[in-house]
Parts: sequence; C-alpha cells; structure tokens
Amino acid sequence: MIRTRLTEMFGVQHPIVQGGMQWVGRAELTAAVANAGALGFLTALTQPTPEALVKEVARCREMTDKPFGVNLTILPTLVPRPYDGYIDAIIGSGIKIVETAGNNPKPYLPKLKAAGVKIIHKCTSVRHGLSAEKAGVDCISMDGFECAGHPGEDDIPNLVLLPAAASVIKIPMIASGGFADARGLVAALALGCDGMNMGTRFMATKEAPIHQNVKEAIVAADERSTALILRSLRNTSRVFGNSVAKRAVEMEREGKGIAEIGPIVAGARGRVVYETGELEHGIWSAGTSMGLIGDIPACRELIDRIVAEAEAIIKERLAGMAARSGPGVAAP
Ligand code: NAD
Repeated sequence: MIRTRLTEMFGVQHPIVQGGMQWVGRAELTAAVANAGALGFLTALTQPTPEALVKEVARCREMTDKPFGVNLTILPTLVPRPYDGYIDAIIGSGIKIVETAGNNPKPYLPKLKAAGVKIIHKCTSVRHGLSAEKAGVDCISMDGFECAGHPGEDDIPNLVLLPAAASVIKIPMIASGGFADARGLVAALALGCDGMNMGTRFMATKEAPIHQNVKEAIVAADERSTALILRSLRNTSRVFGNSVAKRAVEMEREGKGIAEIGPIVAGARGRVVYETGELEHGIWSAGTSMGLIGDIPACRELIDRIVAEAEAIIKERLAGMAARSGPGVAAP
C-alpha cells in the first residue's frame, strides 16, 4: 500500500490515475480502474452531448461504487462544443472529481467549487500550474513532453518539468506523460509528485473499449513510434506515427492551415480507428510510453502489479542502497 496526498484527497487505494482520453475514457474502462482501486476518468467530450454524458456517468455508477471523475478538455475543436453544458451535466450528475485540461479552468471554478467538486487541472508548464494553483484548483496533473495528446509548446520532458514544478507548487501533483510501470511510479514520487497518471498504458488493457488491433499496435510499437502534429498551429498533438500523421506533418510543411488539415486529423476519423481497428483510417493519440508496454492485462492485474513492484523497488532496491551508503562504507 502506498499512501500519498493523492490517495487521501480522492479516497482511492492507489496513487494511480487513468487520464481522460478522447474516445477511450468510457464507463467500461473508468469503472474497471475504479474497481481496481485507482482513480478513473470518463472523458466528457467523448459523449456527443451533455445529456449523453449524464447517461454515461449513470452507466459507470452501475459498474462501480468507487470514486471516479470526469475529464473536460478545453482546446480548439473543429465543431464548437458546449463546455458550459458539460459543466452543468457534471455537477448535475453529482460528480465530485473533475479534471480540466487544455485551457485556463478559472471561468468554471466558482460553479464547480460551489458544488463541492475537487478539481485537478492538467497542464504542461510550471507557470500554468502555478496560475491554476493560485486560481484555487485542488491538484495539478503535470504533463511532460513524453505524453500522448497535447504536450504544449515548451517541449520540457518530465525529468526536469516535474521537479521544477514540485519546487514551487504546494498542492498535490500528479506526474503525467511517459508513465507506464512501477519504475515510473517510484520516479514520480521521487521527483516530488503524489502519484502518476497513465493514458496509453490503460489503452492496452482488456477493459479498454477499443479494438484489439489498436491494443496490439501499442504493444508492438516502441518509444519512437509517435509523431507530433499541429505544431505549426501551436496546438501540438502527439499521436501514433501512422501514414495519416505523416501526411498531416507534410501538409503543415506545405503551409496549409486547419481548414485543409482539419478533415484528415478530425477526431471523428480517429474514432473509427478505435471502433474498427483500421489503424490507418485517422489520427489516434498515443505516447512515447509505448516503449514500455509489452502486454494487455486486465486493469486490476496491471494496477496490482505496478503497486507490488513499486513497493519492492522502494523497500528492497532503494532502501538497500541507502542502507549500504552509510558512514564507514568505502566508496566503490
Ligand atoms: P476535433 O476533431 O475537433 O479536432 C481534431 C484536432 O484538431 C484536435 O487536436 C484539435 O485540438 C485540433 N483543432 C481543431 N480545431 C483547431 C483549430 N482551429 N486550430 C488548431 N487546432 C485545431 O477533436 P477531437 O479529436 O474530437 O477531440 C475533442 C477534443 O479533445 C479536442 O479539443 C482535442 O484536442 C481534445 N483531445 C485531447 C487529448 C488530450 O491529450 N487531452 C487527446 C485527444 C483529443
């Protein structure tokens, strides 16, 4: 058992979070994560309307009585989305944990806080973390350059980003981006965080509601198998490096804008990948952590394994090293 400020704040057994993933964060996965003692998130925008989100929350509650949250990502979309409606749906459903991402959460905080909701804000820089802390969020999820989806534009990997953030941010912090195993969890704790977030790792689980081909592609891929698209629009997104991603990068080099690139990078096409397993049909998010993923376990098996291995690393490997380096022991 590893207790941290994260497990205390959200009433979960393990300091592990399943990040909000477009088209993947549905009730099947979120409930499986919650039942295994970690913190799962439904992805609000995966539901076509706020009303559909209310139904998805109810569906998830039928599958688990453990705490879970809802992710709301506020980034440019090809079709405008009613963010206020999703916030009302979240509050109306009695959800008490929300992960905001992509933009300043300040406009939504008064409503969420008045409803007793705890807010995790996911961001990609120290300065945005500080500003979210000042605005009153309860927890920061700090997303390094390794991550799937939107890593921001600063390109700072987590070995520097997390301790730099931990030096100044006082509220609990979740390490996100590049995490997939026990070594990552121990590293996250050592770097000053209270837990870790995994996205791609949870895509390659039995309960992830996506096609088997996608899961197998993640297992077969390595840390070099991603591509960064939409850099030229300052809305960088790390995705699986398939032919569609390469075409998008080419179009950006040709100076094309969102009007031309939008149709090929559209989430609607990515959704078809997850549903049919046709890996070249569209863009789908995946992180560099693919280099660490070698199987497709059930969520409980994955989470239990990570916690048991993390405890062994802390108690045996690290504690052993600290014990051996006491005074009087000659340096090797
Ligand atoms: P979508 O189909 O609306 O857009 C596809 C991609 O184009 C997205 O990355 C989007 O941010 C980008 N985009 C759209 N309009 C843009 C514009 N005017 N300028 C620059 N970029 C633009 O998106 P979707 O796949 O249906 O996803 C819905 C939302 O979830 C989007 O905001 C998307 O960015 C977000 N998302 C987040 C993550 C994450 O890492 N948190 C992963 C996948 C999707």
